[in-house]
Amino acid sequence: MTEQVLYIILLGPPASGKGTQAAQLREFLELPHVASGDLFRENLKNETELGLQAKEYMDRGELVPDDVTIAMVMDRLSRPDCAGGALLDGFPRTIAQARALDAALAAAGHRVALVPCIQVPDDVLVERVSGRRLCPVCGESYHVRFNPPEEPGICDNDGAELYQREDDQPETVRRRLQVYHEQTSPLIDYYRNRGLLIDIQGDQSIEAVQSDLRSAVSKIGLFRK
Ligand code: AMP
Repeated sequence: MTEQVLYIILLGPPASGKGTQAAQLREFLELPHVASGDLFRENLKNETELGLQAKEYMDRGELVPDDVTIAMVMDRLSRPDCAGGALLDGFPRTIAQARALDAALAAAGHRVALVPCIQVPDDVLVERVSGRRLCPVCGESYHVRFNPPEEPGICDNDGAELYQREDDQPETVRRRLQVYHEQTSPLIDYYRNRGLLIDIQGDQSIEAVQSDLRSAVSKIGLFRK
């Protein structure tokens, strides 16, 4: 297949499995995984000004303002490894972000190719988030019940001690879900109206969701192998 530039957006509420699925899908698509939440956390860890700016919003489960977020993601997309496109996760999260992305891609002669939306009911999400544990070294995500590491609390890949995200506490999760319904879910219609949205049933096993994602992507001939 000829080289093409691919931009795929994984849409879905917090803890719908976007990060886990994207990590697997990126290999299939041979695209870099650009996750805005990871970019913010990286900035926070390195104590950059951007990270400090974002922290107060993240701690409350609110969205970081659009201008800051758009500038950060556009900077990431302008790096050489994104020359062939990207698998976007967590961005866009508002209509303004989606419009900014469309404008930036159009200016370069590109467009969004597909928007799989992973749908999961709220009560399932709350249960998932409360059991989510992450590796501080490789970023692998686990769940104490649904996807446990071999040894409790320890990463299978590198033996590091797993941690729980600050914003995975129940109070903050409820706020993040509310923010999703108010500010991000309008993107479902935004992309559906453009014929780009594909609904993915997210309340299934990780493998089943991945398989649905791959067949959605394959059906429209977007894979490059
Ligand atoms: P995530 O890891 O995608 O759940 O993101 C964690 C937090 O980072 C969110 O709750 C927001 O505070 C912030 N964040 C990530 N992506 C965005 C975005 N596209 N727009 C605004 N804030 C974001």
